[in-house]
Amino acid sequence: MEPVLIVGAGIVGLTLGQALKQKNIPFEIFERDATPEARGQGWAITLHWALEYMFKMLPEETLSRIQDVQVDPDVARHDSGNFLFINLETGEPKYKIPPNRRWRVNRERMRRALLRGIEEHVHWGHRVVGLDLPEGENKARLLFEDGDAVSGRLVVGVEGSRSMVRQILRPDSFNNVPLGINFTGVAVDLTPEEIQPLRDMDPLLFQGCHPQTGVFFWFSMLETPHVNGTANTAAERYRAQICMSWAEEGPGDKVSSTDEGRLTNMKERACGFAPFLEHAVNRIPDGTPVTEIKLADWECLDWNNHDGRVTLAGDAAHAMTMYRGEAANHGILDAFRLAGAIDQIYHHSVGATVALAGYELEMRERTRRAVQLSRQACRDAHNWASLDGNSAILTKRAIIAS
Ligand SMILES: Cc1cc2nc3c(=O)[nH]c(=O)nc-3n(C[C@H](O)[C@H](O)[C@H](O)COP(=O)(O)OP(=O)(O)OC[C@H]3O[C@@H](n4cnc5c(N)ncnc54)[C@H](O)[C@@H]3O)c2cc1C
Repeated sequence: MEPVLIVGAGIVGLTLGQALKQKNIPFEIFERDATPEARGQGWAITLHWALEYMFKMLPEETLSRIQDVQVDPDVARHDSGNFLFINLETGEPKYKIPPNRRWRVNRERMRRALLRGIEEHVHWGHRVVGLDLPEGENKARLLFEDGDAVSGRLVVGVEGSRSMVRQILRPDSFNNVPLGINFTGVAVDLTPEEIQPLRDMDPLLFQGCHPQTGVFFWFSMLETPHVNGTANTAAERYRAQICMSWAEEGPGDKVSSTDEGRLTNMKERACGFAPFLEHAVNRIPDGTPVTEIKLADWECLDWNNHDGRVTLAGDAAHAMTMYRGEAANHGILDAFRLAGAIDQIYHHSVGATVALAGYELEMRERTRRAVQLSRQACRDAHNWASLDGNSAILTKRAIIAS
């Protein structure tokens, strides 16, 4: 049979490729980035409940490569799974989010770990610009920006939250819906002394809200000296991620167009934080690039899968904010279920329309709830007074799925 055509070599597209390879299903992945190194260092993400599905669908060597890209392998060995939510004014932990087994990994290194073993199926520098679904044929065709085209049995759009395939399937309603909350973050190098007070709170990550201003703060480890090779040298350093978000209530809450303006804003908003947190923000050096992440979501609306010839997965299917740290976990579960549905088509003579409809039904139910919960978690994160143990930002990360 003709191959499955996957648009996007992000975490979900590559996981799907690996899962299809295990099932001997032909596939090709098309990625707009010119090379695997084209992106910067990126963020870290926490894999928690999706680990169960990764163990079921990925080969052992891939799992061990992913395990190796944890941001702090030492902490990982005896991790308690703690996840603290603190009062930013006092610096005191207020809530402990129920623990899970977790791997906190560097996202770009995980992408490279997933690439190993399927390199020959990943086509870099291939930006997909269109999709053709010829009437009466069991085929789909992808069109590339250089005018080339490729034909396959079905197309999976996994090209992230601004998906082109989503736009084709829902031209009336493909845009992510903004939340009215602004978010900026930096990656910063810190000496062992500078990072110690933050690591004393939690060596991997913690978050919190300021009771008066409603500003949200997020700290997480990106690299330890052992990972970046500076251990036991004079230049020993950690790399951490410091992010802040706040509700947009007036013109003064907009995100500046310059790094300098964004950094000044972060420093101003950290006024009144407990001293060790205020210092952490004030110490961010001038000239540090400050990234804005647009907080917006998309609730996995319905689409027509054109007789089982096209579907979506990952952020393309369900964009959600990161306040529950679940989007990639859902995307990985999508890959697991979709690989099962595609297996039904290729090896068990199940009709593609039925197989994809089953996959989409489960995903839609699961991820609509997740998008709503993440949206609520984002709002909770900025409203200290309304936080309680049942708030979406504080409840256990788990799925309700069959
Ligand atoms: C700060 C932050 C923290 C996060 N923390 C967590 C966490 O702790 N836990 C968690 O589960 N999730 C987390 N997430 C979410 C997680 O990063 C995403 O859910 C995940 O990366 C989505 O993977 P994806 O493969 O669906 O999409 P992407 O990673 O966006 O990959 C899409 C790929 O498609 C390519 N592409 C796009 N358009 C085209 C085109 N037209 N043609 C060809 N290729 C194309 C892109 O270049 C990209 O490589 C976080 C997100 C952020 C921003």
